[in-house]
Amino acid sequence: MTLTGPFKQLLTMDHLPEKGPLSDDQLEIIPDGGIVHHEGKIIAIGNFNELKDLHSLALVDWLEGDYVGLPGMIDVHTHICWAGSRANDYALRLSGKSYLEIATMGGGIWDTVQKTREATVEELADAVEQRAYRLLKLGVTTLEVKSGYGLSVEQELKILEAIALAGSRSMADLVPTCLAAHILPKDFNGNERQYLELIIEKLLPEVMIRKLASRVDIFVEKSAFSIHAAKRYLSQAKNMGFEIVLHGDQFSTGTATLANELQVHSIDHLEAANDQEIQILAKGNVIPVVLPGASIGLGESFAPARKLLDSGTSLVIASDWNPGSAPMGNLLTEAAILGASEKLTMAEVWAALTCRAARALNSGDRGSLKQGNIADIIAFKTNDYKEILYQQGQLRAGMVWKKGEIVK
Ligand SMILES: [Zn+2]
Repeated sequence: MTLTGPFKQLLTMDHLPEKGPLSDDQLEIIPDGGIVHHEGKIIAIGNFNELKDLHSLALVDWLEGDYVGLPGMIDVHTHICWAGSRANDYALRLSGKSYLEIATMGGGIWDTVQKTREATVEELADAVEQRAYRLLKLGVTTLEVKSGYGLSVEQELKILEAIALAGSRSMADLVPTCLAAHILPKDFNGNERQYLELIIEKLLPEVMIRKLASRVDIFVEKSAFSIHAAKRYLSQAKNMGFEIVLHGDQFSTGTATLANELQVHSIDHLEAANDQEIQILAKGNVIPVVLPGASIGLGESFAPARKLLDSGTSLVIASDWNPGSAPMGNLLTEAAILGASEKLTMAEVWAALTCRAARALNSGDRGSLKQGNIADIIAFKTNDYKEILYQQGQLRAGMVWKKGEIVK
């Protein structure tokens, strides 16, 4: 048993509503706090000195100086299983070419698909492990990882195996998602319906049997899949027992109705979502996930995060870390910039990175610091939590514990 502390402030992120706006005075802050944990789980949380008396046999993991503690961040949307680089695409974009133009010119997702197909399982697992470690050091203790750069039955299985291998070696928890429906592969001899049927018949049963992923995602967009095709595909995947999510409303609208109708777990992107789309989402229970890293990478507007919260929905912020549109891969910086632009309170930003993010991955055992949850804790060297977002990512997590174990 270990007692970690004292923390000048401990933000539990507990007892917060799942939806709607949050004010900073709703945050539960324990001054001079401590956390008792054993075998990776939180046993008790409270005043450090009181816990020290109550658990006199616990080893004390002393923190020298002022630290603010929070639950580990959860990145619910990444594409970190890739090979190659898209720096060239980025340069083209800076010179004025659009995302769609670059894709038409042979860059974009298809370029990454070709390089990823050439990589071995081992090479991809190494890349995922390194990227997951980089995120972990920044305080991301759980992250979702999508496939989607294979785009054939065999290649998607290879990628999901690489993610599983990286997950078995990583200290961070990796949650895999099958995104075989990323784009219609250029070398597929058939239309979108035929491609999605192939995925349903040949890939998803194998993914299910080998327990490679329990989530299925699709990119609904003009350059990817139509709403009509997505509806059929997601319904079938749901009937097979997969949890379903979608990439929607990035450049064009119309996916909110689909999301509600199919009761997808989350709708991710929403940069193009207008008031009508927001009102539709407000009527359902789909979790909106916004991806400021993609807006920064593409030089486009942020998703209407403020309006979404004001309409009464939940809000989760994820990095979308990928080689094309979101190359930064720094969740805290991206969230801080979004918060400044969209006027999100600090409570709303932190909830979007912790407790509300946990719900987006159905991970009820993390995202808040409370008894029974896993001891995923991050600490920033400051005496006031407001300093963290104020410094827009430059104040980094000085300490990270994954399941009670120190990462750095
Ligand atoms: Zn994405």
